[in-house]
Amino acid sequence: MQKLRIAIQKSGRLHDDSIKLLKECGIDINNGVNKLKTEASNFPLEVFFLRDDDIPQYVEDGVADIGIVGENVVLEKNRPFQTVEKLGFGKCRLSIAVDKSAQYNGVKDLQGLRIATSYPVIVDKFLKDNKVEAEIHEISGSVEIAPGIGLAEAICDLVSSGSTLFMNGLKEVETVLKSEAILVANSQLNGEQQILLKKLQFRIQAVKKAKNNKYVLLNAPNEKLPEIISLLPGMKSPTVLPLAEEGWSSVHSVLKESDFWDIIENLKAAGAQGILVVPIEKMIV
Ligand code: ATP
Ligand code: ZN
Repeated sequence: MQKLRIAIQKSGRLHDDSIKLLKECGIDINNGVNKLKTEASNFPLEVFFLRDDDIPQYVEDGVADIGIVGENVVLEKNRPFQTVEKLGFGKCRLSIAVDKSAQYNGVKDLQGLRIATSYPVIVDKFLKDNKVEAEIHEISGSVEIAPGIGLAEAICDLVSSGSTLFMNGLKEVETVLKSEAILVANSQLNGEQQILLKKLQFRIQAVKKAKNNKYVLLNAPNEKLPEIISLLPGMKSPTVLPLAEEGWSSVHSVLKESDFWDIIENLKAAGAQGILVVPIEKMIV
């Protein structure tokens, strides 16, 4: 039987969330911390555990059919992949930082500096796009110490909270790229593999939609229903059920996480009571 081979990070920042996503898609796999590969028991999926930097190459060569990897890695390796799906985890930014006491008024201030980075391809493009000439020093790790040891005046590195930069006496001055984990695919999948990929993608989308939405239940006096219903976008129109108490109804709907707080405030102001907000596990529209 045809299988789909997926490459995920063996250990590191994307490993746990990649496994979690597959599990949320209903795919059972053994966690392979000390393994090279494993198989799902209930989906035709073989999972390879690799270093994240190697994943684009493996997918391009067709050793794996699909992979989960940071956009930053795909762009640095300059691979011509289609992003099949953005996955919403592994969010970070690739930023330029300089000594916190340095004067910095804009990208032109990078002119002539030495910039230490593990992302020479992306930094080179950024400098060219901004018509700045600077010297790129490629180093493979602990980039943030480069200014302190006199190797460079600036760095370009991944940041999520900024605390590492702060601890090293640096300040973030430019965002070069915003990144998150993405699903990439080999461009020459056969028909059966494409069907499997579509199946997986359908499940991923259901998981993602569920995460971006909440199920809301509330009680309202019947005379307030028209106003309350007008505030609820929902998947279709909301469900309205009579309560045992005369003159009251229960209203059920789905709200987008992003609009959630505004709408809840308006619902309260319109007379909604006993508002319950429940996470959704899967959402298929
Ligand atoms: P490997 O051993 O697989 O080569 P690594 O050390 O290169 O691992 P990690 O630090 O585990 O990589 O990061 C993997 C990916 O996680 C990054 O390429 C990036 O897409 C994402 N990421 C999210 N937040 C951060 C962060 N704060 N710092 C670094 N990477 C981050
Ligand atoms: Zn790596």
